[in-house]
Amino acid sequence: MEDERLVLTLSIRRPKPEPEPEPQPPRPPSPKNLPPPNHVPNHVPRPIRNRANPRQAPRGLKPIEIPAPFDWATTRRASIHSLQYLLSAGIKRISGEVQCKRCEGRYVIEYDLKTSFMEIGSFIRANHGLMHDRAPKHWLSPTPLDCRICRQSQCVKPIIALKKQKINWLFLFLGHMLGCCTLEQLKYFCKHTKNHRTGAKDRVLYLTYLGLCKQLDHTGL
Ligand SMILES: [Zn+2]
Repeated sequence: MEDERLVLTLSIRRPKPEPEPEPQPPRPPSPKNLPPPNHVPNHVPRPIRNRANPRQAPRGLKPIEIPAPFDWATTRRASIHSLQYLLSAGIKRISGEVQCKRCEGRYVIEYDLKTSFMEIGSFIRANHGLMHDRAPKHWLSPTPLDCRICRQSQCVKPIIALKKQKINWLFLFLGHMLGCCTLEQLKYFCKHTKNHRTGAKDRVLYLTYLGLCKQLDHTGL
């Protein structure tokens, strides 16, 4: 009897383990890491040797220049031309696309560059000491515009490009609509303008307003 039990125990085998999945062949590099087709050859960064996986290339390897997304923007990320440059080039009005959340209509509105910039500049000069490096409420939560199509009130917001390098920073600034950006988009602006600031949205938004003021007129404020 004991012998039989022993034989039974020995004959129970563990099931064979499943074979390991075959390693997948490496995918080709994602197109977003390739330089844009019209990049300036002089600014192509030198390749780094011994880098096994080009998809893990650090951000520093991205081309320094981008195609200027607007007439008023430069070929550097999150950068616009100065007020003096723009006015001398005959660029006096800055346009951007907006959309109504009720009728979903899209249209273009524009701001007078000089007038709108002077308004914001004098607001900052008058309130600088009271702001404590934080954006005021009306910057943080801009009141939506009235719709020119369906005539309803406070239902129109700017269309903000999903690709951050195509964001219309100057238009959002002049329309007091930078607060419509996400914290991530605002941090992108600060990162590319050497303001490595983390923190709450009111701080990063404040830095974005001041950063754009300085780009327009570095002698002001
Ligand atoms: Zn509408």
